[in-house]
Amino acid sequence: MESRLDLHDEVVAVWPLAGFDKTLHYRASAKLAETIAVGCLVRVPIGRRFVLGVVVETGASADVDYSKLKLVSQLCYDEPILTPELLKLAEWIRAYYGASRESVLETMIPASVRRGMSPKKIKYVSISNEANDEVLAELERRAPKQKALYDFLVQQIKPQSKGLILKRLKLSPATYNSLYKKGFVREESRIEERTAYEDDIGSMEFVEEKAFELNEEQQIVVESLRKNLDRGDFRAHLLCGVTGSGKTEVYLQAMESALERGQGVLFLVPEVALTPQTVGRIRARLAQIGNIEAVVWHSHLSDGERLDGWMALSSGRARVVVGARSAVFAPLQNLGLVIVDEEHEPAFKQDETPRYHGRDVAVYRGYLTKSLCVLGSATPSLETYRNAVNGKYAIDRLTKRVDDRSLPMMHIVDMRQEIARTRKPTQLSRMLVEKLRERFERKEQSILFLNRRGFSASMLCQECGHIESCERCSVPMTYHRSDETLKCHLCGAESVAPMVCPSCRSPRIRWKGMGTQRIENAVTKVLPKAKIVRVDADTMSRKHLFRQILGDFRSGKIDILVGTQMIAKGLDYPNVTLVGLVDADLSLHIPDFRANERTFQLLVQVSGRAGRGDLAGEVVVQSCTPHADPIQFARHGDVDAFLQMELENRERFQYPPFRRLIRQVLRGPNPDKVAFFAEQFAKQVEKRLDGVVEIRGPAPCPIEKMKDNYRFQNWYFTAGVSPVMAVLREIAGDISWPADVVQVLDADPMMLS
Ligand code: ADP
Ligand code: ZN
Ligand code: ZN
Repeated sequence: MESRLDLHDEVVAVWPLAGFDKTLHYRASAKLAETIAVGCLVRVPIGRRFVLGVVVETGASADVDYSKLKLVSQLCYDEPILTPELLKLAEWIRAYYGASRESVLETMIPASVRRGMSPKKIKYVSISNEANDEVLAELERRAPKQKALYDFLVQQIKPQSKGLILKRLKLSPATYNSLYKKGFVREESRIEERTAYEDDIGSMEFVEEKAFELNEEQQIVVESLRKNLDRGDFRAHLLCGVTGSGKTEVYLQAMESALERGQGVLFLVPEVALTPQTVGRIRARLAQIGNIEAVVWHSHLSDGERLDGWMALSSGRARVVVGARSAVFAPLQNLGLVIVDEEHEPAFKQDETPRYHGRDVAVYRGYLTKSLCVLGSATPSLETYRNAVNGKYAIDRLTKRVDDRSLPMMHIVDMRQEIARTRKPTQLSRMLVEKLRERFERKEQSILFLNRRGFSASMLCQECGHIESCERCSVPMTYHRSDETLKCHLCGAESVAPMVCPSCRSPRIRWKGMGTQRIENAVTKVLPKAKIVRVDADTMSRKHLFRQILGDFRSGKIDILVGTQMIAKGLDYPNVTLVGLVDADLSLHIPDFRANERTFQLLVQVSGRAGRGDLAGEVVVQSCTPHADPIQFARHGDVDAFLQMELENRERFQYPPFRRLIRQVLRGPNPDKVAFFAEQFAKQVEKRLDGVVEIRGPAPCPIEKMKDNYRFQNWYFTAGVSPVMAVLREIAGDISWPADVVQVLDADPMMLS
């Protein structure tokens, strides 16, 4: 009778987390079958091991040989940890980004949940029987401590943590036990509510939060979003709003509408630590509209907090999640609204396997759940903008700053003239120094930004601003000191490095980046009395330090803040009236077809930090190429004109978003070997995908050598990613790779270094 399925058993399909991509079948005993459901985490036997896995199907499928099925050994949690739509999402990510199922599941499910860690249970106590006066008097006399405990408990509305009470009343467990034995107290074990919802990042700055009366533009946008919520279907909106136009208020009101409809809300921000104000405002607003639990999801959570947050969401107790990239996988129930703030931010792309884009995954999840997706930015990505122009997405606009505050005036300083005047390398122009001094004297604040997205090896003429570019790829050539050549890192084209500028014959054609330290020193020299503080990667990694600096800046203890563009996001300080961008050029010179886009975004975002209070703001941009398009368009604040122009550029070269790009990077200690395999791979692709993909490469990566590994790349342009990715993965599987060559595939790459 072994081969027959017990009437009450059930066959389940499981994705094991065991290092391979297979679906395996198991039997769930009648007892487990009652609770087991799609999305549950289970422990199952494989050979002699036991591994964790996720149930993807319940109910027997016909062609399974029941006699061979082993039993599911454990159901880790009663409730599913993934929703059915998250399982679909996992499969989509696997196919699109070319990752293993296991790596996708490991990214989706926090380690503490995957390990089957159990929520910490603690004892909660309350009064079960009220004592009569006689008993109480007796207790008072004979055991005053027990009486104190009784008195405390009887006043509580809901059960309290036993540990906390004893600590607070300074009582011993013995006192408690005596009272317990008398039968007055009820105990219950409950999951301890840890601090995932009360985490300190959101409250790192106190933000007052009241709902504003929406201005006319905001009103129109919120109405249009509500209409789509009513429709209950998938729809994506690009919310294109200038900095300070009140986008956050629009998100908040849309969020309230979704919550009123009983829906869950996913709110993505590029980085929680960098957008403390946005996170603080969301939480403050939720606190105000009543008992809505929100989970703030970020990289500093402890394992326990992650577990609690996850469980709060999958049980439906919490209905809002706010967080960076990985929050897109939070097990929200009944998702209805997806918000992606600063949708253009490259930080949404993960740069390790699976290399998913948080915004794109969010939109796909919105599609699966028939949700409304709102992608907001002052400087939309070309990808999103094209979808809006095509009519695939709706577009909503906020064209004015709230209260008609003016956008700051932007001055462009031609650094070639500064250098000609001073006859030596200069960090701060005369105009910038003047304006910094003015602010300091008026007790207003300034921020100086430094652009760190450059490669010092790119070649720029400091006299005329000329940059030598590849004719075929229209990206700057990179200078190679070793053999005095210029190389295109996309197609491999190569030429002898010129001794003088090909355009103006000046010999001053090298460029080196500056650090925040040098800027700080330069400012100190001209304004020795000003309080100047520097924020860099090092400061950022120390959460408390960063928080303290922002606090000091807000309270006016700091006059000038110097930092990289990392701090350009989301800061809203009313007393900042001057923003300086020290080196606007650097991001123009990277061999990346998004160089213009990045520069434009940087300028607009950075200048958005000025003049957010009652005082008007000014921006000083220093550049050796003051006439470059992104700088000129940013100066006039003409976002649409810039995007239109850039869209045309992209179309001309058939760059994304007109085609999709899959980038392959191969690396290893032996450059010849790496180049050989890059070549072999490309040949295979040519054979198998002729006419489907256009191959560019192999060529050295812009960063040719990293940690003693030489890096080469192939670019594959295609119309559709998933089918091509599948073939690329097959080819990768067919090649017998030497141990010292590693290859990586990246769909829709953001980092092209
Ligand atoms: P954005 O995200 O578009 O840069 P914010 O949402 O941060 O803009 O709004 C800018 C400022 O304007 C914030 O201080 C916000 O509190 C305030 N604000 C937003 N909407 C209104 C409104 N309708 N009336 C008055 N102030 C508003
Ligand atoms: Zn020149
Ligand atoms: Zn080229």
